[in-house]
Amino acid sequence: MKKCLNCQKEIKDNDKYCRNCGCLIEKNSHYILVNILTILVTIAIIILIILFIASYMLSR
Ligand SMILES: [Zn+2]
Repeated sequence: MKKCLNCQKEIKDNDKYCRNCGCLIEKNSHYILVNILTILVTIAIIILIILFIASYMLSR
């Protein structure tokens, strides 16, 4: 069993929020961080593709 970081009450493993105080559980904040990294990597790839197309068009 995990414990809530806010109120120290025990939480079930599949709960996303604390049933006592309603705060987010650590696992979920890690998931949000991974999500932000995924979005940043996707944006970086799109910018690289645009730069590649732009340089290809300019070289012609
Ligand atoms: Zn709590």
